[in-house]
Amino acid sequence: MLSTRPVGVDNSGRKYLPAAASASESRSPNQELMPLTARVNRADHLEIGGCDVTVLVERFGSPLYIVDEETLRTACRQYREALSRYYPGQWQVIYASKAWSCLAICAVAAQEGLGIDVVSGGELHTALTAGASPESIYLHGNNKSREELQLAIETGCTVVADNWLDLLTIADISKKARQPVRLMLRFTPGIECHTHEYIRTGHLDSKFGFDPDWADEVFSFVSQHPALSCTGLHAHIGSQIFELQPHEDLAGVLVHWLKKAAQYGLPVRELNVGGGLGIRYTESDDPPSIDAWVKTVCVSIAGALGSEGLPLPKLLCEPGRSIVGPACVTAYTAGSQKAIPGIRTYLSVDGGMSDNPRPITYQAVYRAVVANRMGDPLTEKVTVAGKHCESGDILIQEAELPKTEPGDILVVPGTGAYNYSMASNYNRLPRPAAVLVRDGEANVILQRETYQDLLRLDRLPARLIPESGITPPLPQE
Ligand SMILES: *Cc1c(COP(=O)(O)O)cnc(C)c1O
Repeated sequence: MLSTRPVGVDNSGRKYLPAAASASESRSPNQELMPLTARVNRADHLEIGGCDVTVLVERFGSPLYIVDEETLRTACRQYREALSRYYPGQWQVIYASKAWSCLAICAVAAQEGLGIDVVSGGELHTALTAGASPESIYLHGNNKSREELQLAIETGCTVVADNWLDLLTIADISKKARQPVRLMLRFTPGIECHTHEYIRTGHLDSKFGFDPDWADEVFSFVSQHPALSCTGLHAHIGSQIFELQPHEDLAGVLVHWLKKAAQYGLPVRELNVGGGLGIRYTESDDPPSIDAWVKTVCVSIAGALGSEGLPLPKLLCEPGRSIVGPACVTAYTAGSQKAIPGIRTYLSVDGGMSDNPRPITYQAVYRAVVANRMGDPLTEKVTVAGKHCESGDILIQEAELPKTEPGDILVVPGTGAYNYSMASNYNRLPRPAAVLVRDGEANVILQRETYQDLLRLDRLPARLIPESGITPPLPQE
């Protein structure tokens, strides 16, 4: 379905903004470059959640992650509404918290009725502390420690077994603690996705999930362990996917396994199709809407089951990027510029690969606007560089910007997913603060790290302490 959203209103930063507010209900956040509430105010400044971005940076410092609560909640709601529209059975949306695991974002997802998918003890601890109910928490991971499994089982979460070691450890914990375990089994679906095509392979080269060739042995093992209550099957085909076909194919594969499990007397009541819906980082990205993705998943699953005369299991999906990605922008302060005649101009900002490792890790492409010059014509082509001691620390290879000066506020949209969650302290940069904005109010959800925070875990053995001492004194061993 082609979108009718107006893209270029004028040759300025405004062209990246979403269409008029009245259409807000039907706009799918993952198809927008900017959060749904992004506007230009009378000062020609960018505003998000009713807050002037330049004022937010004055108040909370730079760089700054700015999370728009309305966009975040709209994405959660659109998943829920689409599932209730298209799936005739029970369903549950689960937020894949690895995209951004922190208390406030997990709390919003939980308030919106989403479960939480976690892949480590740390993410599990965060989800539980944020108030998510253990019945809706799912522990994933291809190498969970015994402690992580124990924590999930003791607190009553569902565990997704990924491999034999997992299964044996889970069976052992459940036996020793005399505690039944809600278990899902993850298989490698054998469906590969690329940006513009997908290929089917009989044998997928992935570290995640049981090889489907092992299905008989796995089902047989689980059927002989009554404490392992196999509630369902899981598969996840990838991330930042724009095609719908792989998800149609996945339905057939899952239903095939479901029938096989039934032959071993395992009453599989849940099918989990994973996440993966892509988002729009640049004008040329054209992902399907949340509604279209959910519709494809529901119709394919219901279709594959219907033709078998099987009852409808509970349908689970686990979006991460498309929930939190479009809700956040990162604001940076522009600094030095280096013009190399005939080659390029570098514009450096006060963050980089430590707050957004996606460009250097995945060659991810981003856009940017200048928050205090939203009406200025886009006359410059520059390379936006981070401040790290690494030539590859480039945030945007080619950004179309207005003429900028040091102190201008550069805003990169689409930074909610896999940015903070992958952030580091490289070059001992303190991690930026994050604020949640809504109706003109801004609340800090992650404090900016201080230099003191950077030294929190440092210890200096007595023989290394200089005679002059250290001010302030450091904690000693
Ligand atoms: C990463 C992951 C997701 C979320 O993927 P997105 O592309 O962010 O939607 C869901 N399920 C599993 C098992 C994952 O590993």
